[in-house]
Amino acid sequence: MGKVYLIGAGPGDPELLTLKALRLLQSASVVLHDSLVSREVLALIPCDVEVIDVGKRAGQKLLTQEEINALLVSYAGRGENVIRLKGGDPLIFGRAGEEIEALRDAGVDFEVVPGITAALGAAAAAGISLTDRRAASQLVIATFSRGTDASSMNWGAVTNSSTLVLYMPGADYAEVARQMRDAGLADDLPCAIVSNATTPRQQIRRTSVAALARQERLPAPALLIVGRVATHHVQELAEAYWPARAFQQSTSETKIS
Ligand code: SAH
Repeated sequence: MGKVYLIGAGPGDPELLTLKALRLLQSASVVLHDSLVSREVLALIPCDVEVIDVGKRAGQKLLTQEEINALLVSYAGRGENVIRLKGGDPLIFGRAGEEIEALRDAGVDFEVVPGITAALGAAAAAGISLTDRRAASQLVIATFSRGTDASSMNWGAVTNSSTLVLYMPGADYAEVARQMRDAGLADDLPCAIVSNATTPRQQIRRTSVAALARQERLPAPALLIVGRVATHHVQELAEAYWPARAFQQSTSETKIS
């Protein structure tokens, strides 16, 4: 019986791979990867390794999640060391939970190798300290492009003193902005759109909750960093504009709701 390695490929820059990920990639017999994994990282896989793209292309799924699970189990059953390579970290919006369950059910040994999730790659690219103590009390990692089930966005968890990193914001920024304003976020709350963080295609736009609606969509993959920390002037604004009392008030409001 082989083993399955669920490996995080990081946000794009191959130098952000862990040493462990690189070592495993170079000794694998088969790699199954998502379309999110950057071409720069894929270029590090030796030519004699079987590489299978199981990801989505233009909204069309190449393989279903069940088919991917079955492939992992069957390759491992043949005694191969299988690499399941995912963009960012496998455990953040990476469907690793479903794969881990399938591997456990089939009695297949597995190991998770963490990667740098997009939120951290994007924050580094934009020079934003996600938990800057002068302006943020919590970090919320979320997506809202889901159905109305357990995984749909809980806006109640987000306040003006949160840092929100919104993965998969979709194409309709006006709708995202509308939901933020409905949730009580201030119109002038800073917001950064980061596209293709840590790759040569990286783009960063700084805007605000209200102005987001009019922003041109940046190429996928992109995410939003929303919150007071997303300004270049945290100190100045923290003193002049977000006085300690207002900060405390919004924190206690959160507790009540
Ligand atoms: N497991 C991944 C996330 C998969 S969900 C991780 O931990 O990063 C896919 C979403 O991740 C994209 O829609 C986008 O919002 C975000 N994303 C992934 N790579 C990105 C990058 N290089 N720059 C900006 N956003 C990225």
